[in-house]
Amino acid sequence: MRRRIVTINEQTCIGCGLCLPDCPTLALGIPDGKSRLLDDRLCDGCGACVSACPEGALRVTEREARPFDLCRAIGRVRSAGECAVRGLLAYLEGCGDEALLSRARDLLGTVPDEPAGPG
Ligand code: SF4
Ligand code: SF4
Repeated sequence: MRRRIVTINEQTCIGCGLCLPDCPTLALGIPDGKSRLLDDRLCDGCGACVSACPEGALRVTEREARPFDLCRAIGRVRSAGECAVRGLLAYLEGCGDEALLSRARDLLGTVPDEPAGPG
């Protein structure tokens, strides 16, 4: 499907890592000295990371990508600990989508932890 999702310019990324904590789903990592989207399904295209980048390497654009997967995102943040869970819930509260927030709270009690990896 075509949807809005983060795009990283690897030519301008200096691997500083400043964007990582601003992502509520922990979708970004620096596996090789550059920021990478670890899994399309973790990024909902919110744009929270964009302003954190001092190099202007991040943008949200429309492209082909797998759909955002809230279940996977919940597993990802839960595996990172309570602080990450609170960050995701705060982000979802700010979105004002009560149905999404309710589903996230339900999933928090059921889905297994999900370390990000290929796929
Ligand atoms: S656009 Fe949002 S979900 Fe996607 S990487 Fe940036 S902060 Fe994370
Ligand atoms: S903040 Fe920008 S320059 Fe730093 S790692 Fe993230 S994308 Fe790269």
